[in-house]
Amino acid sequence: MNTSVLLVEDDRELRTTLRDALALEGYAVTAAASIADARALLAHAFADAGPDLVLLDLGLPDGDGEGLLAALRRARAPAVIVISARHGEDPKVRLLDAGADDYLVKPFGLAELLARIRVALRHRGATAAPAKLHWAMGGVEVDVAAHRVLRDGVALHLTPTEFRVLARLVRQAGRVVTHRQLLADVWGPEHVDDTQYLRLYLGQLRAKLERDPADPQLLLTEPGVGYRLADPGS
Ligand code: CA
Repeated sequence: MNTSVLLVEDDRELRTTLRDALALEGYAVTAAASIADARALLAHAFADAGPDLVLLDLGLPDGDGEGLLAALRRARAPAVIVISARHGEDPKVRLLDAGADDYLVKPFGLAELLARIRVALRHRGATAAPAKLHWAMGGVEVDVAAHRVLRDGVALHLTPTEFRVLARLVRQAGRVVTHRQLLADVWGPEHVDDTQYLRLYLGQLRAKLERDPADPQLLLTEPGVGYRLADPGS
């Protein structure tokens, strides 16, 4: 069965463009132009089986798309990618912390959107399975279970904290992990504001893993939001 996508976007031109592009990729796309439309579709057309993925605009004629996020979380949770013209880092972080899988700022390239969709769906499909424990890209290989990191086949020594940071990023490789998520999972909930830890440890990890630590290709910064381990599948 085709992967189903609910597209919530009031901009008619963008809605048509995205619907056609996603249909060409084989997705079964249903489009809504408002929060009310989206709610009606979720209650009726998607009553039995929810969409696999929701592309959610924020600025909608009858309110903020963010309100829909909570409703989506309550139902059998689809993957959610927010698409918005809002640049601010605050809403981005809040939405990711609230459970959105990813966030794309308009205008975005179609190739980028499709890559993010694949990552979000892969991750969503894998939620029932154990967390991702293996990652390899750019000559670097991480085996979380074996507690091993190789670069060009040579074992690297990481401190226990460096390893925990890296393992957390491997768990959702290709997806952004917010500062708060990373700090809470590695250092504990009392440290969610200690972003200086992250600068320090990401710097150390880059020095060990990246060919050019000043131009990271693997451990990517999402300014003001968090970090993303590059997706080897894209
Ligand atoms: Ca809009």
